[in-house]
Amino acid sequence: MEQGGKAALGWAARDASGHLSPYSFSRRVLRDGDVTIKVLFCGICHADLHVIKNEWHNAMYPVVPGHEIVGVVTDIGPSVTKFKAGDTVGVGYYVDSCRSCDSCSNGYESYCPKLVPTSNGVDSSDGSITKGGFSDVILVSQDYVVRVPESLSPDRAAPLLCAGITVFSPMVRFGLNAPGKHLGVVGLGGLGHMAVKFGKAFGMKVTVISTSPGKREEALERLGADAFLVSRDPEQMKAAASTMDGIFDTVSAEHPVAPLLELLKPMGQMVILGVPVKPLEVPAFSLVAGGKRMAGSPGGGIGECQAMLDFAGEHGITADVEVVAMDYVNTAMQRLERNDVRYRFVVDVAGSNLGAAA
Ligand code: NAP
Ligand code: ZN
Ligand code: ZN
Repeated sequence: MEQGGKAALGWAARDASGHLSPYSFSRRVLRDGDVTIKVLFCGICHADLHVIKNEWHNAMYPVVPGHEIVGVVTDIGPSVTKFKAGDTVGVGYYVDSCRSCDSCSNGYESYCPKLVPTSNGVDSSDGSITKGGFSDVILVSQDYVVRVPESLSPDRAAPLLCAGITVFSPMVRFGLNAPGKHLGVVGLGGLGHMAVKFGKAFGMKVTVISTSPGKREEALERLGADAFLVSRDPEQMKAAASTMDGIFDTVSAEHPVAPLLELLKPMGQMVILGVPVKPLEVPAFSLVAGGKRMAGSPGGGIGECQAMLDFAGEHGITADVEVVAMDYVNTAMQRLERNDVRYRFVVDVAGSNLGAAA
């Protein structure tokens, strides 16, 4: 950690209980290409929950979570050309990458083997542990910052920085973003509800596949999905067999995958987006029969993220959010864990007293 950097106040988890409490630390000294961002809002992604509870066995405590950041630029380094003070900007899942591998060179930074996550990552230049958006200020290289369209409200835009790009990128990359294509969205949470919104904006037919029958009405009427299947109802699943061009699996917990593969047309594309702790069980026959394909997808590149935000600005796409103060964040994490959020918690960081513990 460079000494003499900007004083920051955030909330951190100290151990695998995941309990968050106020934490004072020092940000790095402004570098040539850096922008200093006053954090306005930060979404709560299920990945934050996985990390603070050390479910992925990679937590480097104290962990300051948060990678769905919308803020305002307050200062820029001497070589910054893309942003100026007062701009509304976003930061997503990562704040750096190697900048030279094939992925980085081709605009797929999120695939870089040396990706530096915004939170709980290792800053390659000084070895410090990165601290995320549950804090009042963050310094990020301009190359990993995106512009947030002024037409989008900053609280509802924050979840676009992870949930939004994570569903937008594979929609485009796998050529599913075309009218008439049929997309199945498994799990109607933060990622899932964004997949419904982007899918409908692209003119796709979208079917939600959910364990929560209580989400049916909202999925169809408010979010605009075309159909709703209860994944635990074998009759409903059977009736929809071989109808989908693509399926996005956003489930955060252990669940059966074979019944989902049945829903794909021949040569259909399953995309795994959720990262449950336990390995998925994939019967070979479910892939071999019908020549079905399975891939994972990690967020998206910086250029893709800017394209997603511009598309969201044009189409008025934002998340359905419950805005909370930082002192509610432990309760929000508990509610997220028991699937009690419609559909994203967003912390009003600038409007919170960060020094006050719950
Ligand atoms: P979320 O808001 O909690 O949504 C997950 C959804 O999964 C829930 O709303 C629920 O939908 C379903 N679900 C939960 N428990 C289930 C169970 N036991 N069986 C079946 N379905 C269950 O989480 P999120 O923020 O969208 O994140 C989802 C996952 O994606 C997490 O694992 C996260 O780490 C991962 N993620 C990956 C990337 C990436 O780059 N690939 C980016 C962000 C997040 P229903 O009520 O409709 O069943
Ligand atoms: Zn995320
Ligand atoms: Zn790279």
